[in-house]
Amino acid sequence: MRVRTATAAVRQLAGRIGPRPGTSPAYHRAVRWVESQFTALGWTVTRQSFEVPGGNSVAGPTDGLPVEAGRSTNVIATLGDVVPGEPWLLVGAHLDTVPTAPGAEDNASGIGVLLATAEALAGHRTRLPVVLVAFGAEEPRGHSDEDHHYGSTEYVASLTAAQRRTLRGMVALDRVGVGSVLPVGSVEDGDPLRAELEDAARRAGVPIVTETGQKSSDHWSFVQEGLPGVRLGSTPYAGYHSPQDVPSVVDPAQLERTARVVVEWLR
Ligand SMILES: [Zn+2]
Repeated sequence: MRVRTATAAVRQLAGRIGPRPGTSPAYHRAVRWVESQFTALGWTVTRQSFEVPGGNSVAGPTDGLPVEAGRSTNVIATLGDVVPGEPWLLVGAHLDTVPTAPGAEDNASGIGVLLATAEALAGHRTRLPVVLVAFGAEEPRGHSDEDHHYGSTEYVASLTAAQRRTLRGMVALDRVGVGSVLPVGSVEDGDPLRAELEDAARRAGVPIVTETGQKSSDHWSFVQEGLPGVRLGSTPYAGYHSPQDVPSVVDPAQLERTARVVVEWLR
């Protein structure tokens, strides 16, 4: 695994592109960049576009800032080995940010680990076929449970009955570059998918802390529909949802630890 792939993504998204609310021109620049990275690593990419309502950012220093209605996009990458009706795994990370936040930790860190995973898997067999998704418009546009996670909601709605039946696990990477202990979060205690990730972390030698009641990322769109989903990441940090969420916030060692757990789970 090359941590440079993850840190380069943090520099590109948070350092060069900057704040990228899910319907903004900057967001669509980020989409083109992520697509080019997946393609260069040998993955086949499709896009899924959808309409997102306007609203107001919530939580943190950006609370109340307006976000515009418009189109957002999911970037979906595969290695061509997914067989309809047979088991598969999914790893996702949101690509958007709240307004004014460069989003190094939230969530260029997750996209960085997603791309490092894409690189580590290309040319290797995994235990099941893997789909990697950069989700659009995860960040909230209002206070209700319907006002966020638009990209993953759209993605889940697009799955066929057979795809739902055969999805063996979805992992959301969201804020995975701060601290030295990796949060492994699920909605319910005793979640079997969370236990799989705990085992993978043990094998990878990565210290974790488990969280129950975790609904604050794209895995929740899956769990709500009865599908298996957990989240990696969520350690609090000073620059959250602010202009101070810059690349220096992210620790390459934590990106590397997270990627090691993900790849261990997939192999
Ligand atoms: Zn996030």
